[in-house]
Amino acid sequence: MKNTRFILVALWAAVLVALPLSSADAFSYAGYRWKGTFPTVGMDLRGLNLTSWKSSAKTVMSEWNSKEARFLFYSNDSSANKAYVYYDYYGNLAFAKIYTYPFTKTIYKAHVYVNNFYSYNPPYTWGTWYDLKTVLRHEYGHLLKLEHNGNSSSLMYASIPPKTVKYIGTDEVNGIRYIYGRR
Ligand SMILES: [Zn+2]
Repeated sequence: MKNTRFILVALWAAVLVALPLSSADAFSYAGYRWKGTFPTVGMDLRGLNLTSWKSSAKTVMSEWNSKEARFLFYSNDSSANKAYVYYDYYGNLAFAKIYTYPFTKTIYKAHVYVNNFYSYNPPYTWGTWYDLKTVLRHEYGHLLKLEHNGNSSSLMYASIPPKTVKYIGTDEVNGIRYIYGRR
């Protein structure tokens, strides 16, 4: 039987040891970023079958875009950088798989999987539900190459309890501005 707290997994985080940059930095970064000096990432949401899920996925893209770092998520544009968001019936609550060129430390593709074995708001607001936007906020943080951190109130903490809403916080904003620069 599964535990009531589920771990959100980044596959790369499992194999890379992501060290904090210094004790003052709450965010954690493994040294990779999307290709380009001001990268755009074309997000393909066709793998999310529910209209309400697509809408949540777009809202969360806008939230990350509003944090004034030098990258932008777009819906399915012609960007060479591609990310795909799917629902799946496998493993943990959600995970992000990041495809990288190791020598240049750049990302060229990513997949986010949300496990629809679990119940999400939307549409579920009864029983044991998870907040879909919170899960996507966390996984998009992985897409940008933030790793887990040890601050349990932070969005990039490794697990999220049911019925919990978290937002992009100071830790994450500092992290993406460090990785991509300030716009
Ligand atoms: Zn995670």
